[in-house]
Amino acid sequence: MFDKLKNKAGDLMGQSVIVVGAGIVGVSCAEELRRAGVDVTLVDRVPAGDPSQTSYGNAGILAREGVMPIANPSMLSMIPQIMFSPRSPVYMKWSYMVRLMPWAAGFMMNGTKPKAAKIITSLNTLLYDTVEKHTQLAKGTDAAQYIAKGDMTFLYRHRRQFTSDRFANKTRAELGMTWTELNRDDLLDRDPHISGVYQFGLSYHHHGWITDPSAYVAALALHFQKNGGKIHAGEVSKVGQRVVTLKDGKTLSADTIVLATGAWSKDLASALGHRVPLQAEHGYHLSLKNTSHAPPNTYLITDKRFGVTPMNGFLRCAGQSEFAPLDSPPNLKAIDNLRRFVYRLYPNLKHEGETTWQGTRPTLPDSLPMIGRSPNDPSVVFAFGSQHLGLTMGPKVGQMVRDVVLDQQTNIEMNGYSPTRFD
Ligand SMILES: Cc1cc2nc3c(=O)[nH]c(=O)nc-3n(C[C@H](O)[C@H](O)[C@H](O)COP(=O)(O)OP(=O)(O)OC[C@H]3O[C@@H](n4cnc5c(N)ncnc54)[C@H](O)[C@@H]3O)c2cc1C
Repeated sequence: MFDKLKNKAGDLMGQSVIVVGAGIVGVSCAEELRRAGVDVTLVDRVPAGDPSQTSYGNAGILAREGVMPIANPSMLSMIPQIMFSPRSPVYMKWSYMVRLMPWAAGFMMNGTKPKAAKIITSLNTLLYDTVEKHTQLAKGTDAAQYIAKGDMTFLYRHRRQFTSDRFANKTRAELGMTWTELNRDDLLDRDPHISGVYQFGLSYHHHGWITDPSAYVAALALHFQKNGGKIHAGEVSKVGQRVVTLKDGKTLSADTIVLATGAWSKDLASALGHRVPLQAEHGYHLSLKNTSHAPPNTYLITDKRFGVTPMNGFLRCAGQSEFAPLDSPPNLKAIDNLRRFVYRLYPNLKHEGETTWQGTRPTLPDSLPMIGRSPNDPSVVFAFGSQHLGLTMGPKVGQMVRDVVLDQQTNIEMNGYSPTRFD
């Protein structure tokens, strides 16, 4: 397959591609294309690894298990409780409700069993080999040092909290995922600091995490640049007809333009005449420096929907979903919640300092990204909409985009990711 790609790239000698967006998705696309022999320029208004990127501050989890669409049959019945409970990890201002309605309607329609089943298949394609794909992408680069391999443990208050989610459990088992059930004693054997709130755990095998997501993306971008990739700093105002127009009026041209601008993709992509119902879903992190203890691997705290990840010199607690305009300011309540939640997990935790962060997930109503050429302008390839899972799927999306650009046939069913599916 790789040789075939090389030949194809050889046939296309002189092909040029501009990738707009240097987050994990854009950097993966750029590096995969560079490795295939294409002349690639990566354009962004900020350097890779910058705090304004969503790729900077995520929970770092390579969430192979994350196949459940955000809207799914188990979750629909919980919507009133999730949206309007004061202690919920999901927020929305009442004043935003009217603007969110069309997106929310599409979101709910995708939560039925038949729709969810199709989405799960498409999500699984993007996620199932995440650890291998990251390992391949980072091999021979400084980024490799940030990949950790191990379980991902879901913590539950009681075993019945796990058994009641039949749809998700059955789905994961059918997809071949394996896990170990952990009673309270097992949990304490692995991590003696867990509070009595959590009585049951489920440890998914064959997972991994990134021990510094910002440094990881920056290292990949540096490798790309050192090996012949070009990086251009600038804010893009328009893409199309093989031209990228920058805010300062300058233009860059290439045979293909890959749009990997994450949560900021809606205006650039809609200008090509497509319906792109991309919603900004803000999330937050609280990173605690030099903590007295840390989990042996990543945790998902299921009742509060946040991740806890042991990183290089800090413990990252990340999660919360806030449906709000793209440019809305950080919500301090979300950070306070994370602080409260981590002490609920680790009542005796000590640390030396903290940092907080707001990031924005790019979320489409069916939880799937848009990957593919725009039929309205075939010089533009879409690569955005990775919701809560962009770090996990980034390298796979990079390979898929490479194949789309090189017009390479694969056995991946691409319909689910079509840029025209909402037109
Ligand atoms: C709190 C939180 C926790 C998360 N945890 C996880 C996790 O554990 N695992 C996981 O897989 N995913 C996680 N995610 C999701 C993941 O971080 C995102 O899906 C992913 O980072 C998106 O990557 P991206 O490259 O598409 O976007 P970004 O990283 O946001 O990059 C987009 C880039 O495009 C650039 N750009 C945008 N518009 C323009 C323009 N007009 N001109 C020039 N440049 C432009 C931006 O500057 C930016 O650099 C989490 C997200 C949040 C918020």
